[in-house]
Amino acid sequence: MLAAGIQARSAVLSTIELSPIWHPSPNFGERRDGLTPSLIVIHYTAMGSAQAALERLCDPKAEVSAHYLIGNDGTLWQMVREEDRAWHAGAGEWDGKNDINSRSIGIELDNTGLHPFSEPQMTTLETLLPRIMNTWSILASGVIGHSDMAPDRKSDPGPHFDWQRLERQALARPRGSDIASASPSPGEFRAAARRAGFTAPVEDTQLLAAVRLRFRPWAKGPLETADLNALTQPNTTT
Ligand SMILES: [Zn+2]
Repeated sequence: MLAAGIQARSAVLSTIELSPIWHPSPNFGERRDGLTPSLIVIHYTAMGSAQAALERLCDPKAEVSAHYLIGNDGTLWQMVREEDRAWHAGAGEWDGKNDINSRSIGIELDNTGLHPFSEPQMTTLETLLPRIMNTWSILASGVIGHSDMAPDRKSDPGPHFDWQRLERQALARPRGSDIASASPSPGEFRAAARRAGFTAPVEDTQLLAAVRLRFRPWAKGPLETADLNALTQPNTTT
């Protein structure tokens, strides 16, 4: 009975992961320079409803899109084929590389940015991420937020997004320990941030804000040891 139960559950999961609602957007092109996805960029829509976001992401005048949109109720829409270059990331840089649109899959989460992400939505995201990661051999460290690559322009998926939940499932880069050491200098902090991928050319305050959005959204005030520690990855192979 147990085996049957597991089988039934995985059948449900595979139905979810294999059956996004196809709602094509005209806003895409070819990936440049033969690039394939090595990153997954997570966004929030900052709109009032999934339907409103879907309309905007498919409006030729808006000139924006994403590969996927996940509704607050867990519904999954696909707007652009994974092979193609959706227009979700814009200007920015991650790990020394730009043209993030050519290097990534974009996932929009239906959320205003002002409240937590729902359980059905997180469940759909956690079903979708491993599928994309398997298809394109994307590492956990390649799952990033929009604010990670554009700290001067963007703050999504924002302080309410539960990165630690993804980290526990190896669906995002794990954070370092919170053990105290000597206070870091801004230079030390920037060097550690660069090693972790935060290479976009921004000011110290913007860099600190971006790292905190990703790892320590509750933190306030000047740079502290825990900000540096969060960037020190416990396992460098992921
Ligand atoms: Zn975004």
